[in-house]
Amino acid sequence: MKNLQDFEEEIYKCSRCGLCQSVCPVFKATMNECAVSRGKFNILNGIIKGDLKMTDKVKSYLDLCTGCNACRDFCPSGIDAREIFIAAKQDFYSKNEISFGKKLINSYLLFKLSLLFSGIFGKVLKTFKINSFIKFFENILLKTGYLGKRLILFNSLFCFSVKNRIKTAKKNTLKTAIYFDGCFNKYIDNATKTAVVNILANSGITIVNKKFECCGVSHLHDGDLQGFKKLIKKNLQQLDVEYDYLITDCSSCNYVLKKYSQYDDSDNSKILGNKVVSALDLMKNLKFTANQKYTVAVHKPCHDNYDFIDVVKNIEGINFVEVDDFDKCCGFSGKFAIQNQNVSRTISRSRAQQYVDSGVDYIITTCPACLLGLNQGLAEIESQHKPIPINLFVFLSEYCWQSSI
Ligand code: SF4
Ligand code: SF4
Repeated sequence: MKNLQDFEEEIYKCSRCGLCQSVCPVFKATMNECAVSRGKFNILNGIIKGDLKMTDKVKSYLDLCTGCNACRDFCPSGIDAREIFIAAKQDFYSKNEISFGKKLINSYLLFKLSLLFSGIFGKVLKTFKINSFIKFFENILLKTGYLGKRLILFNSLFCFSVKNRIKTAKKNTLKTAIYFDGCFNKYIDNATKTAVVNILANSGITIVNKKFECCGVSHLHDGDLQGFKKLIKKNLQQLDVEYDYLITDCSSCNYVLKKYSQYDDSDNSKILGNKVVSALDLMKNLKFTANQKYTVAVHKPCHDNYDFIDVVKNIEGINFVEVDDFDKCCGFSGKFAIQNQNVSRTISRSRAQQYVDSGVDYIITTCPACLLGLNQGLAEIESQHKPIPINLFVFLSEYCWQSSI
């Protein structure tokens, strides 16, 4: 695991060409040079040379990043800015005394409690059908300002229901897959997991449930490597049975689980890295047919290494529309949306506007945070026809018929 000093040469590779400005969503929203990799590298260069100190202000500039990796993919020098920012933030935590208040805000306990309460609140909305009521009055709520928009955003998470169609577990199956739920399934709403289990019901795979913690994506992105490593240890302890796959339905969990071996040198983390699969990997022998002629677009999450767009294009009976910038950051990115609310909403709004303009019915994606980002953007826009962001597996389970190839 590298620290900031180890990246000195990498940072030196930056030619200051400024090309990263043209792809960085945060720079486009703020026009702040400190938001883009070039600006951050200038600051970090000063810190490495001892001309600048790693202060709260520097950390706030490092936090002005969604971790989308667009600059890495575009940089002529091939610099992986995100890795450098993580090392720099870790440097901040190791050099500064963090106040009790900040520790509390950053604590995993508070994170879990807020997810838990959101989940309970969501269940109340669903049980008493308040979610449909809020949906109906969305255009009026939009005009009430910030709180109304937040309520619309929150409510959007509870607009889908997926019924468990599995009555009895199949015996004598061929493979065993441990399900990594992710925080969204675990605390907020398990519609996506239920959808995956429904789809895989006849695939010959036994699904095993375990009590995992968060994958640690926000700890890693924040540079809190101590917290991240604790979560890795806890999650690895759950892998105490023989398994063929560790299955995820979330592109961020998938991305981070594969990184465990970079931060933990146990054999278990290496084995896990080779066994992590997207739920889509286990559905390759299935064919999907839409139950209506839906017009859909996709949103590709920044962390999605699995090309799910072809899966959507291959759904029979679907009307697929390729929307500009479908693979650009939605602006949410966990803590970023809390730390930099206005910037996050600006990015989300411009992304959502492209989908509104395209006239599609659904925006299919594979990341819960992207669902939040797209809904956050849509909650900023007044329009007679707004597309509905939906998880891919929920769409495949509830809006399609499936057959074997
Ligand atoms: S694109 Fe790469 S080399 Fe060019 S300024 Fe940005 S970080 Fe530096
Ligand atoms: S990772 Fe994305 S948000 Fe962060 S500096 Fe690079 S382009 Fe900008």
